[in-house]
Amino acid sequence: MKIRYFDNSATTKVRKEVLDKMFPYFMLEYGNPSSLYKLGRTARVAVEEARRNVANLINCDKNEIYFTSGGTESDNTALKGIMNLDKNNGKHLITTKIEHPAILNTCRTLEENGFKVTYLNVDKEGVINIEELNNSITEETVLISIMFANNEIGSIQPIEEIGKIAKKRGIIFHTDAVQACGNIDIDVKKLNIDMLSLSGHKIGAPKGIGALYVNKNIEFKNLIDGGHQEKDKRAGTENVPGMVGLGEACRLAKNDMKNHINKLKTLRDYYFEKIKENILDVKTNGSIEHRLPGNANTSFKGINGGELLMKLDEKGICASAGSACSSGSSMPSHVLTTIGLTSEYLEGTLRVTFGDENTKEDVDYLIESLVEIIHNIEN
Ligand SMILES: *Cc1c(COP(=O)(O)O)cnc(C)c1O
Repeated sequence: MKIRYFDNSATTKVRKEVLDKMFPYFMLEYGNPSSLYKLGRTARVAVEEARRNVANLINCDKNEIYFTSGGTESDNTALKGIMNLDKNNGKHLITTKIEHPAILNTCRTLEENGFKVTYLNVDKEGVINIEELNNSITEETVLISIMFANNEIGSIQPIEEIGKIAKKRGIIFHTDAVQACGNIDIDVKKLNIDMLSLSGHKIGAPKGIGALYVNKNIEFKNLIDGGHQEKDKRAGTENVPGMVGLGEACRLAKNDMKNHINKLKTLRDYYFEKIKENILDVKTNGSIEHRLPGNANTSFKGINGGELLMKLDEKGICASAGSACSSGSSMPSHVLTTIGLTSEYLEGTLRVTFGDENTKEDVDYLIESLVEIIHNIEN
């Protein structure tokens, strides 16, 4: 059966160009970048070119990019790396209630270690209130960490305004941009972002590679102790093919951004339109205006999301109930409860996230299948 993949926020297929670019670094140019002979130097050159490509995507200096094992490690490094720096004697950090577990659970650990965390609310659209952010800042606040775009409902935060506030109050601003990178034009200098997390497997590179941008004026403590790699900030022999892949994915994302965004938006808006036309009791979750181009998150009243996913799977369709991270458990999504979704809709939530390989025919098949399944469940 043909697989139709609509779960690009969970992970993406590795792009052919990315894999081709990585390939030589497994068996031909397999040197350790720290080695001084030619084989090592070739790997070093490749890593530095990749670093430049990552930097170009978000408009920072190449020396402000640190490679990590992915979005989770980047988030951990950012939060713990700032809060655990002795020089920062403030003990308070501000985040939101709708962050990815990589941020939320890092905050829980920090709380266990004596730090204070404020979790900002979001409105029905999944967007924070700037006034609430302003009022949460205290003398003790060292860090604001607010995601660029949400992985479940796709809502985009007012990053530019947050950046201005952070700058004015002398607070470090980190953003988890794992979902935003490649889907929104990001300029960290213009937006006053001090630190930013991104991940390879959400943008056509492999799983297990990511990066953290840190403004050159910001000091932070390393998470992993060991060798001198990544300017002493991330020890461990470099994942050269992964870094090369991430660099290529970032270069392609920058080149393709306009077309990519247009394509995803067109598919998504078509999907929204058809769903509303054909299914009576459906609710759209998250802002329409401030939303990731490829995200469609809807709730069907009285439908069991797990059952819906199973039936879709039988038809070769991959989608998600809440987020991939919470779909293993029966706990309602923290994002959906925070935006105030009522219980009759909560269970019947379906997240569809489009990618470059999706066609209009795929979407027609998805809608057709959905209408049929929901009709059968209802009767
Ligand atoms: C996927 C994701 C992460 C985690 O990234 P990994 O590379 O899978 O560790 C963090 N934050 C957000 C918003 C994500 O979507």
